[in-house]
Amino acid sequence: MPMSLSFAERLQPALPQIVEAFGTPFHVYDEAGMVEGGRRLNQLFAAVPGFREYYAVKALPNLRILEILRRELGFGFDCSSIPELQMARSLGAGPDDIMFSSNNTSPAEYAEALGNGGCILNLDDITFIDKVPLMPELICFRYNPGNRRTGNAIIGKPEEAKYGLRHDQIIDAYRLALERGASRFGLHTMVVSNERNYEYMVATIEMLFGICKEVTEATGIRFEFINIGGGIGIPYRPEQEPFDLAGLAEKAAILFEAFWRETGYTPRLLMECGRAITGPHGVLVTRVLNVMSKYRDYVGVDACMSSLMRPAMYDAYHHITAVGRDGREKRGVSGVVDVVGSLCENNDKFAQQRELPAVEDGDYLLIQDTGAHGLAMGFQYNGRLRPKELLFHRDGSIELIRRAETLDDYLRTQTNFEPRTLKLGEG
Ligand SMILES: *Cc1c(COP(=O)(O)O)cnc(C)c1O
Repeated sequence: MPMSLSFAERLQPALPQIVEAFGTPFHVYDEAGMVEGGRRLNQLFAAVPGFREYYAVKALPNLRILEILRRELGFGFDCSSIPELQMARSLGAGPDDIMFSSNNTSPAEYAEALGNGGCILNLDDITFIDKVPLMPELICFRYNPGNRRTGNAIIGKPEEAKYGLRHDQIIDAYRLALERGASRFGLHTMVVSNERNYEYMVATIEMLFGICKEVTEATGIRFEFINIGGGIGIPYRPEQEPFDLAGLAEKAAILFEAFWRETGYTPRLLMECGRAITGPHGVLVTRVLNVMSKYRDYVGVDACMSSLMRPAMYDAYHHITAVGRDGREKRGVSGVVDVVGSLCENNDKFAQQRELPAVEDGDYLLIQDTGAHGLAMGFQYNGRLRPKELLFHRDGSIELIRRAETLDDYLRTQTNFEPRTLKLGEG
């Protein structure tokens, strides 16, 4: 079941006060859930050598949240852009705490990644070896298995993906890096997305160990770590089973032990999950503006795609509950509704043909599991500005951790700069 349902239960008694104080719409995140989930991850993987999670910043790039993940859980950060890198550094993350997994990388990104003490650089293409301004001591490559894949379909076919080095490039890449002066090595891949079957992650570890052995045999290098990427799934639907983290941790420990027996050394296990860490611990709270009957029945709410793109972009399911309306009859003849925002885009829908109890104008809907790839993916199209974010603390207090956007924010890039006009031909 969607894990934030338990948070929703704790949230509901406080909701009247919260909406009164802050107004809707907003995403609200559950500190207790995130910290407990993160502790469980750390505990389960304690038996796996040097385990560390590098939280994928893109999933929920809010400084307050990142700070909690770092302070309470000791997570590092997986960054893939300069702003993400700078956010991580602003929180005191050092070279070992940041994995930079960019793709189609620019010179400016390398400069920032290697500056300020550097970070763990994860190269996405073999040509990047000659493009990094200097080869760092520690270097990692992203491997793409192509049709040797061990992954699910959600991320697409690896052989069609723009990421990573082909199998026939990987040995050359480490050999070149070695020649350029690298002396410490990591290996990375990411072949699943929102996957709830832990066997795929077990297979990913086996696949990476296979590559480690091939590279070691050809070059003599040993690996300091393998990074199995993110992509651990969460149950967005009530009938779905959660990912078996304990099962993965147990199998991982066995595989690492076997690798050590075979090779005489043990790399560390790194992971860079986003969704699994914060996804279930966020809820989008929105108010019903209009209940409408057209060729379909519609529930129009005061949030829209600018707060949550996943349903429109991936046809993704987010569970929706109506506060205080459980057990009510369904609405209309069909008994199903589309839950929609106000954007002039017909795919501005949080749910289509969904069974919901009958709701009225002014009711509150809880759109579940918005703690990852939620607000972060939002945009400003149609002048529909992004909403605020709140943090439900363990002590029961509610903190505003991002205000809603304003017209000033929307216009800033049109008004707040030095005027410039180029007249062509006047040299
Ligand atoms: C998006 C991404 C992640 C996080 O994915 P989740 O599904 O949120 O776990 C991790 N690593 C890389 C390289 C990514 O692009």
